[in-house]
Amino acid sequence: MLPAAEICIPIIRTICMRGYTGHALPLRSFNKVETIKIMDVYEYANGEVTILWKPKICIHSGVCVRTLPNVYDPKARPWIKPENAASDELTAQIAKCPSGALSIKGES
Ligand code: SF4
Repeated sequence: MLPAAEICIPIIRTICMRGYTGHALPLRSFNKVETIKIMDVYEYANGEVTILWKPKICIHSGVCVRTLPNVYDPKARPWIKPENAASDELTAQIAKCPSGALSIKGES
């Protein structure tokens, strides 16, 4: 059994192929079994605010991608580019995240 902090890439790929957006996962090869470490929290700063993203509670609803596509791009690395929107736009969008996976550092 895999440790909780490791995710089996083939399982993630299967989930993605069923319609979920498997953003921020470095999917390298469809032919190899790999495991990757998933951090609890990732930080993305624009100089004014720092976005926190918790991949383990993200439900891949895509709300962020549809609301601010210039900031959230599952195909890009990093997948969140907070410099592409004003801080108040980021804050308003983050309030719409249905899982609570997104938040602003220092705000509860
Ligand atoms: S809106 Fe929140 S739950 Fe939905 S994909 Fe973005 S981070 Fe994940």
